[in-house]
Amino acid sequence: MGQIKVLDQNMINMIAAGEVIERPASVVKELMENSIDAGAAKITVAVEDGGRKSISITDDGCGMDAEDLAQAFEAHTTSKIKTSIDLSRISTLGFRGEALASIASVAQVKAVSRPRTEDGGQKTEDRDKNVSDMLKDEGRRTQYAIRNSSFAAALLRRTDTQYEANCIEIDCGSKSSAGPCSGDYGTTIQVRDLFYKLPARRKFLRTANTEMTHITEQFIRIALGSYFAVNPTAASPADAPASSRKGLDLTLIHNGREIHRLLANQTLHQRITELFSSELAEKLIETEANERGIHISGLFGRPDTSRTSGKFQYVFLNGRFIRDKFISHAIKEAYRGLIEQNRFPIVFLFIEMPYKDYDVNVHPTKIEVRFYNANLVHSQILGCLREKLLSTDLQPHAQLPIVAVPRTHRDRPTGTHRSQEITDAMAEFFKKHRPADRQELSQVSTIKPYKAPSVMSAQTTAQQRRDTTVAIGPVETKIMQIHDSYIVQQIQDGFIIIDQHALHERILYEALCRRMKQNKLESQWLLIPDSFELTEAQQNIIDTNRPLIEKLGIELVPFGPKTYAVQAFPILLSRATPADFVRDLIDLLDDKGTELSAEELLEEVLKMAACKAAIKAGQKLNNAEIEQLLEDKKHTERSSQCPHGRPTAIKFTLSDLEKQFKRT
Ligand code: ADP
Ligand code: MG
Repeated sequence: MGQIKVLDQNMINMIAAGEVIERPASVVKELMENSIDAGAAKITVAVEDGGRKSISITDDGCGMDAEDLAQAFEAHTTSKIKTSIDLSRISTLGFRGEALASIASVAQVKAVSRPRTEDGGQKTEDRDKNVSDMLKDEGRRTQYAIRNSSFAAALLRRTDTQYEANCIEIDCGSKSSAGPCSGDYGTTIQVRDLFYKLPARRKFLRTANTEMTHITEQFIRIALGSYFAVNPTAASPADAPASSRKGLDLTLIHNGREIHRLLANQTLHQRITELFSSELAEKLIETEANERGIHISGLFGRPDTSRTSGKFQYVFLNGRFIRDKFISHAIKEAYRGLIEQNRFPIVFLFIEMPYKDYDVNVHPTKIEVRFYNANLVHSQILGCLREKLLSTDLQPHAQLPIVAVPRTHRDRPTGTHRSQEITDAMAEFFKKHRPADRQELSQVSTIKPYKAPSVMSAQTTAQQRRDTTVAIGPVETKIMQIHDSYIVQQIQDGFIIIDQHALHERILYEALCRRMKQNKLESQWLLIPDSFELTEAQQNIIDTNRPLIEKLGIELVPFGPKTYAVQAFPILLSRATPADFVRDLIDLLDDKGTELSAEELLEEVLKMAACKAAIKAGQKLNNAEIEQLLEDKKHTERSSQCPHGRPTAIKFTLSDLEKQFKRT
């Protein structure tokens, strides 16, 4: 008896923190969202050691006075909702009033805030008085007459920052000090040593690189979502003035180095280019629809830019990043028949609809919502994307070489920048001299597309290719390719139908496993390195997975700003395009890298490699290629199933046929 006790508030906060604060990236998300809700136009995120050491977020939003600052870190305190009616039309990113209390219960927090006054922070009389007093002290009255002089401006800043901010410090739930201090308009919150009193949770933090990848992802979501962020006081997004619909000025710094600097006046397209790459941004199709109370604007990838995971599907509802199975389904349906079933298109989708038409209070991190009319949302998105996809010329376009802009003498880098200049110049050169397509690359490479006699090379004539329907070899091994996808082979007691892609996938998979076990994969140098752009987070993934990438026989070299090039590529995968392959590999490592064991991950990588480098369905094969495939089949273990478990061949016996034709 008497065993059940009410938990103290700090324990309650720590338990709540378990739901809201999973890792440093969650802190970044919650604090950036608070800054946006505070009407900030500029937010700077500075992180040390992947956020494990410190996370500091500065905004120029509305700020808090001393009373609010102390109150903000108490549990269940919010300025964003007051009644249950407010709860049914949430227009702000936050509303649960638990983030600051949760963060402060599991880390050392220091917050400095200074509220803006009604005129936007310019308490002119007070300020002038302060400045005047100061000038008196310093005997510089005459200079004050020149109101715009830099001296006066500096003094204005000094007086502003000296008196009106407040500061509070909290160490894992216990407030250690509070009081006035200097600080600019807005709020700075610094979070140090997350989970330092909770070793069990601290242990789950990953390397600085991995944590930084998560932080960057949250930053990207907010950078894109806030692009359409609307005025939180508007009853519906439609009421927000167009002027409030622009990007915020956002900066992300890691260990003193600027990772992203996004200017407020850039277009969404420019922002996507900055956050991802120009390669990705250039292949986006734009669309817009506004029907039945749902405004949709989207930028989405051409089918040939599809990826192996859904990571590049960014869906925002009134500026909030969400994951929703109805919307994912609508996107998949829109691309039906245009991409393979297991691929995911790149999509940036911005949905705006009245706040009252959905519920955000479903998930602690608010990543899921409940639509009151999910079918309508589904059909509007599907219709909008599908219509645009079907009316767009989706043929891949040949890339025109980029015209080099001659550098003027003035902006030519000097000294240590010289090597950078040479790297840039090489990148430009190779970009211009890139092979036009894959065929040209296989011609210049030293190996043939598939190990077989010379008839299989690129010189194979159309006539030779047509010959495949002719039986080859002795009568009892008649073979033919049908629909450019299946091989029909006569065997002693009937015939088998082989799925050429599935079989080749298994052959390659077994060969890859065998070679990898012995050593690293044998690679060949590409005469023309295949270059591609990468984000900072993707470069981190490469760094983290170096040993695996090297074992695969892939050699990557930096090739200019944010650009890498594949310099050597495994011979076994020569049917795959090197840069495309590496891009998919990075996606896979990103997606599964932390959740799988090293061995499982390797298996996934090899499966993907086999799939990408295997002969495709729809590819015409000549006699020699078919023979080679069947020969390899004999020497391959588990050749009856592809690495994903699908059958590679189906057998029909003569007795089956006889039964079907009622001969027996
Ligand atoms: P919520 O965002 O759900 O209201 P939080 O715990 O995140 O809850 O924040 C509590 C309150 O502190 C907010 O409602 C807001 O009034 C205030 N606040 C938090 N961060 C800021 C900020 N950067 N600028 C101004 N006010 C802030
Ligand atoms: Mg909040």
